[in-house]
Amino acid sequence: MANANLIQPDLDFVKELTVEGGGGESLKKCFQCATCSVVCNVTHTDRPFPRKEMVWAQWGLKDKLLGDPDVWLCHQCSDCTAYCPRGAKPGEVLGAIRKISIQNNSWPSAIGKLVASPSGLIPLLMVPIFIFGAVILGLGRLNHLEGPIVYEKLVPIPAVDAIFMTAALFAALSFFTGIKKFWKAMLDATGRESVRGSVVPAIIAALSEIIAHKRFDKCEVTSARASAHKLVFWGFAGLAVTTTWALVYLYGFHLESPYSLINPMKWLAFASMCSLLYGIYKVVSNRKDNAEKAGEGSYFDWLFIWLVVLVGATGAMSWGIRLLGIAPLAYLTYFTHLVLVFSLFAYAPFSKMAHMVYRTTAMVFAHHVDMEK
Ligand code: SF4
Ligand code: SF4
Repeated sequence: MANANLIQPDLDFVKELTVEGGGGESLKKCFQCATCSVVCNVTHTDRPFPRKEMVWAQWGLKDKLLGDPDVWLCHQCSDCTAYCPRGAKPGEVLGAIRKISIQNNSWPSAIGKLVASPSGLIPLLMVPIFIFGAVILGLGRLNHLEGPIVYEKLVPIPAVDAIFMTAALFAALSFFTGIKKFWKAMLDATGRESVRGSVVPAIIAALSEIIAHKRFDKCEVTSARASAHKLVFWGFAGLAVTTTWALVYLYGFHLESPYSLINPMKWLAFASMCSLLYGIYKVVSNRKDNAEKAGEGSYFDWLFIWLVVLVGATGAMSWGIRLLGIAPLAYLTYFTHLVLVFSLFAYAPFSKMAHMVYRTTAMVFAHHVDMEK
């Protein structure tokens, strides 16, 4: 007699997935026809998704889904959602599973819960407001803002660096904990104790795929999303280079801001900011234009999008308003910018931004498993 498999559904997981506003509300409409797996250009041929994930989700197989790299190989292009004959929105359901996966892996989990819920927004923003406010008031900086607008007068650069370094260390630790848990979940789901051999070739394959957006380029229904995503990606990459460049200026050569307008670092920052802002504008307009076909996106998706929009906008406005010489507005905009940048990076392991790290990890795992064959 064949061995029987005991299925243990996690009904709380199904409830969490299908709750109003969570992104997976349409799950129960799926009647498992597999059209979605047929139309998905990103899926593998030997273990196609997303139909199997829709079945597992309906059955409440949380552990299987949280250890499934395919959930992360999906780029939410929504080709499947557009063709689903039942309106089950598999692209959105997979997005909701990724959100739960981030929450489940993230540490401390309380922050994950705050990031996932609209009611958590104010408490989260109060943290950087309190930190930067305490530095400004503690050092009596409000009394020293006369004369030319120099943002260092509001918050000294060493204080900004110390706060962001601490936030970055916290985010790195949280990511490390989360990725360790995720890797173990993928090993368990595939019945492995560990992977065989070096993962370096898989890392190289995954990174080259990400840089060129090879998978995203295969999407059809919302193909413009790939170009928008590329602009955002290159905007972020350019700003990361600019930040490192500024740190080298400051700590390597003791050159302090503001820098000349003809400094190439300024031009890279400007070009990266334009790429980020235009890319995010395209992300928003594509989502609006395709809402009927591809789904509207959840609060979790939109929180990340709006945070990036506001970081880019307040960064550009801080620059522009300083040039116009409107001091109170410039300092207020800069303060808002600091609060938003802190929120974007300190809460990255808990927000949709974490998809960069989890998707990369899933790609490495999937490539390595394929190379093991
Ligand atoms: S999600 Fe839609 S297309 Fe996919 S299996 Fe279910 S009903 Fe079919
Ligand atoms: S959203 Fe796109 S990538 Fe994801 S499963 Fe559907 S078709 Fe495939």
